Amino acid sequence: MRSLRSALLLALLTTALLAPVFQRSLGAQSPVAVPADAAYKNPATPIDQRVADLLSRMTLEEKASMLAGSGWMESMPIARLGIPAIKMADGPMGVRSWAGSSAITSGPNDPHKITATSFPAGVAMAATWDTELVRREGQAIAQEVKALGRDMILGPTVNINRVPLWGRNFEGYGEDPFLSARLGVAYIKGVQGEGVIPSVKHFDANNEEFERHRIDESVDARTLHEIYLPAFKAAVEEADVWTVMSAYNLVNGTHCAESKPLLDDILKKEFGFKGFVISDWGSTYSTAATVNAGMDLEMPGGAPMREWYARPESIAAGRGAGWLSEEKVLAEIKAGHIAASTLDDNVGRILRVIFVSGLFDHPHTATGVVDTPEQIAIARQGATEGIVLLKNAGSLLPLDAQKIPSVAVIGPNAAVARTGGGGSSLVRPNHAISPLDGLKERAGKDVAVNYALGVSMEGEDPALDTQAVRERLLKEAVEAAAHADVAVVVVGRYPKLEGESFDVKTMDLPAGQDELIQAVEKANPHTVVVLNSGDPVTMGKWLEKTPALVEMWYGGQEGGHALAGILFGDANPSGKLPVTFPKRFEDSPAAANYPGKNLHVNYGEGIYVGYRYFDSKNVEPLFPFGFGLSYTTFAYSDLNVRPTLAIANQQSTLRAFVDLKVTNSGARAGAEVVQLYVHDSHARIDRPVRELKGFERVELNPGETKMVRFRLQDADFSYWDPRKKDWVADPGEYEIQVGSSSRDIRLRAPLQLAH
Ligand code: BGC
Repeated sequence: MRSLRSALLLALLTTALLAPVFQRSLGAQSPVAVPADAAYKNPATPIDQRVADLLSRMTLEEKASMLAGSGWMESMPIARLGIPAIKMADGPMGVRSWAGSSAITSGPNDPHKITATSFPAGVAMAATWDTELVRREGQAIAQEVKALGRDMILGPTVNINRVPLWGRNFEGYGEDPFLSARLGVAYIKGVQGEGVIPSVKHFDANNEEFERHRIDESVDARTLHEIYLPAFKAAVEEADVWTVMSAYNLVNGTHCAESKPLLDDILKKEFGFKGFVISDWGSTYSTAATVNAGMDLEMPGGAPMREWYARPESIAAGRGAGWLSEEKVLAEIKAGHIAASTLDDNVGRILRVIFVSGLFDHPHTATGVVDTPEQIAIARQGATEGIVLLKNAGSLLPLDAQKIPSVAVIGPNAAVARTGGGGSSLVRPNHAISPLDGLKERAGKDVAVNYALGVSMEGEDPALDTQAVRERLLKEAVEAAAHADVAVVVVGRYPKLEGESFDVKTMDLPAGQDELIQAVEKANPHTVVVLNSGDPVTMGKWLEKTPALVEMWYGGQEGGHALAGILFGDANPSGKLPVTFPKRFEDSPAAANYPGKNLHVNYGEGIYVGYRYFDSKNVEPLFPFGFGLSYTTFAYSDLNVRPTLAIANQQSTLRAFVDLKVTNSGARAGAEVVQLYVHDSHARIDRPVRELKGFERVELNPGETKMVRFRLQDADFSYWDPRKKDWVADPGEYEIQVGSSSRDIRLRAPLQLAH
């Protein structure tokens, strides 16, 4: 009896132990129960061991199922093992939504209507040049992500502004890779510091929306490394970013989602990325090639993906989806086209992020507290610091509320808060302050504020677009301007003219806006033109006669408050252009290579993007990179460059200490953004005349002087050598240039780089 019982026990035990082996050969693996004290469940276990332990307990099917999302914005959970879904939300200018494609969530019938703080557009935050503020913005957004019960924010966008017509220029940090890298790192640190997962996007060279799913870009290795990769490299090396989102477009013949050179060779091997790669929504076109190239997670997945992918507009746009489903991945593994070790690497990366972010141990539960006074204050500070004063003839600004009894506020962007551009980044705020609201609130009882539309926004309301109505609106605007002491004309675009999935048609302002400005300026010489858009616009028809010009970008929900504060002098403008404003589109470096022919675009301008082109090829911009006026003045002095004997640490080699003094030489407190450019005086290879390698925003009271310090590393003198396939800093003479814009260099000093 006893021996029978032992035999039975032995048989049961053998079956249990051998089951996975038998079943693997037959087909599905069956899961083995997990003890409560499994190592991966213990937060004290080192992360690599947690990942290895958890992987060893997963069946092949479970692993394969994790390569695609379970829904629109959730990764695949595995309840048996306690693996949570990563719950994402769109960004990067706040928490947008997770309820479906932007076509649904932008519409009036959006069933979910998620609201959150709407922060200024990326380009506006870039204009602050304030890394600490961008870090705090990332932190605030992460707090809202958690408050809404989500785990991941799809941002920051760090793509470079290559052409002034890219529909998504407003989302990124401008044209310079160094500035984009600094701000991207700051945002990511802010987000990750809260245990929320960011996704730096779109990797790589996503610089036009035209045919974004099919466009193939030829970009040489040097241009990629010097212009389009640095922000991603810094995100990995300096912020240890947890996820990277691949781009829709093709680079050098291959879709980014299946580009081994980009994902595996550069991102994972060259940069040492340890997190996971997530596909942009609907950007995959194969199973084995995509997985083997380094893609870890395909989004979206499940039923929402199937429904969306089947729509005629998805097919027409050229989207691809549904390639990393469990069945397809398993079939390719069985066929020997995907190695089991590759699958382990993919899943291991996702698990690592789930552990490292704290998500496994502390799931986020929705508290619903968003749009707090602290978050709103950060949005307002960003909008204020991001405003760039471009012209102020005769010191028309700031307005003195005691001296001007009336202001006429005019224009299609005056009474509506245009908080951002269109598409997946447009946040739905609880409330938003339009320029008119902000100016009325600030003007109080002392200043009468009159409003006139002037011209309707192109395409927004056909009823206002007839000849008769247009004439009436213009007449009303002229009358309002003529009867006021000062006229403020707010012009620009709106999400249907500037946004994701289409490029901006023209650099010109939308229909009728140039004419409106001209008519108002004729009626009132004290006219302030305010630009409310994400891209540079042409101004040839009126700028000469315009006394004051302000770029407010898309300022998020607090844009109107910020504008009023700047116009009335409560805040001193300190924003600087993160992008060159060309006089006309044809002057911009990529004009001849845009949007490409036959779905192919040659990045023929190479490394000469933005000021690298304007300054090196002597093309006069309308307003240069780094430019922005203040209500005070700043004096630069005492530049001191001390070369070091090369001091190496793990990251780079320290080459020089630079310091200088900046003094507020005017009568108002203000902030200056001191910019450091490096000029290679002996270039062995074709190099731009100057490249930004340092900046510092300094706040100064009248008469106050502060010392500004920079440290320059090898990397700051290097170019990417395509023959060596590496960064090279040639020994020899350089010039350190410090100034207030790329065209306003105040101090120069030579520096000898020895080896
Ligand atoms: C955009 C991404 C966005 C994703 C999810 C895509 O169309 O390119 O930036 O995060 O959709 O909404």
